Amino acid sequence: MLSEMTETCALQQRQIELEMQLAALRHAYDDAQALLRKHADIYNSAPVGYFTLNSFSVIFKLNPAGANLLGVKLSQCEHRRFDEFVKPECIPLFRKFRAEVLGGTRKGCCELILKASDRRAELLVRIEAAPDENGRELHMVVIDISAEKALHAREQYQRALLDNCPFLIWLKDEQGRFLAVNAPFAQTFGCASVDTIIGKTDYALTSPELAEAYRADDFAVMASGEKRSFEEQIEVNGELRWFETCKSPVVVDDRTIGTVGFSRDITERRRTETELRSLAATDSLTQLANRRHFLARLEDTHAGLQRDADHPVAVLMFDLDHFKSINDSLGHAAGDAVLRLFSSLLRDELRAGDLAGRIGGEEFAVLLTRSNPDAAAAFAERIRRKVAETSILMGQRRIAITVSIGIALLLADDSTAEQALGRADDALYRAKAEGRNRIALADTPAPQQLFRGTQAAM
Ligand code: GH3
Ligand code: MG
Ligand code: MG
Repeated sequence: MLSEMTETCALQQRQIELEMQLAALRHAYDDAQALLRKHADIYNSAPVGYFTLNSFSVIFKLNPAGANLLGVKLSQCEHRRFDEFVKPECIPLFRKFRAEVLGGTRKGCCELILKASDRRAELLVRIEAAPDENGRELHMVVIDISAEKALHAREQYQRALLDNCPFLIWLKDEQGRFLAVNAPFAQTFGCASVDTIIGKTDYALTSPELAEAYRADDFAVMASGEKRSFEEQIEVNGELRWFETCKSPVVVDDRTIGTVGFSRDITERRRTETELRSLAATDSLTQLANRRHFLARLEDTHAGLQRDADHPVAVLMFDLDHFKSINDSLGHAAGDAVLRLFSSLLRDELRAGDLAGRIGGEEFAVLLTRSNPDAAAAFAERIRRKVAETSILMGQRRIAITVSIGIALLLADDSTAEQALGRADDALYRAKAEGRNRIALADTPAPQQLFRGTQAAM
């Protein structure tokens, strides 16, 4: 009886254990089912194509995105060969890739073109593949990279456009951080690549003072909404160079979000301009100012005199005596040599701010700023004496030269600067008439009266 009871108890115990195991198994089954459903959901709704191919390239499993990539309905592609959908010229590439992945000699990806279908144009795809454990099935993830490639190509075109532009180009955000720059910009600032500049500000590229000035410029451009152009000198690789810069605000949807700038090196242009200006202002034989430049400076000086009449300015006219006879007896080249010699004597006596010009064949003029009649007369006398004491050896002949000089003061009351030049010319005429190799002061009101008729031997 006792043993019967003990046996019943053991059976009940065993039943309870079995029921508990059954419940645990049900739970595990439910979990597995849920996981499978989840996996199926992911598989079916994934935005990339999943494919399983056998070793003959036949598709025996794929998801809707995969069918979409092939350009057919899901029901139309099972048991068809994947190669059918590949553009003919890409088929050898795909077969080699598939064989290498299945053979275990290659993992990874390849890029190829899928044929156009009724539903879409050709498609550039990237295939990532791995074999199953037996090397018989190929699991592939296929991604449409047409848009990505098109974007990449567009970026490359834009890059080429920027980098081949002979200007420096940059784009900054509101805080002055560089969003984009071109290769000439990076080279100018000694940076290895454009990428090293992105995200930085001018403070990383140049002196704090210049960076501060650029920042102020950028704020002014953004605040005014107007472009700003200027020329500036920047040190590039230890050399000061001129740049012409234009900065404009960048406005998107009525909001200013940064600035764009263009800059070009104009050092050579400025150098040429300076040379041309200098050429246009210089007499080619004597390298003194030519008539046009001398008269322009005389006008400027006259205008300055009307603002500040406290510093008298003297105008002197010089004419070589009997110059024609040098030409006639020794030839034009000898005459030219004399003109050059006289010019260098004149130049040697000038102070900074004074100007000498050749205003006619053998006629010269000098502008003495901050002068007075005494100083002008002393200057003229120095020149007269130096010329008279200088002789030129031409072949076997020694040529002596002399010069006559007329002096006038440029007056604020003169209606034009050339009036003073005219007075100096009149005085010169008098010096010629009185015997040459001498100085004459212009017939103008005091204090010049004091010097009227001054003789050569002063
Ligand atoms: P005066 O003492 O009155 O000034 O006599 P002059 O012979 O110096 O004056 P004139 O005006 O009669 O002669 C000036 C000469 O200068 C005439 C011209 O042939 C010469 N001449 C003008 N330009 C040049 C030049 O560029 N080179 C040379 N060699 N001679 C020039
Ligand atoms: Mg003359
Ligand atoms: Mg003369």
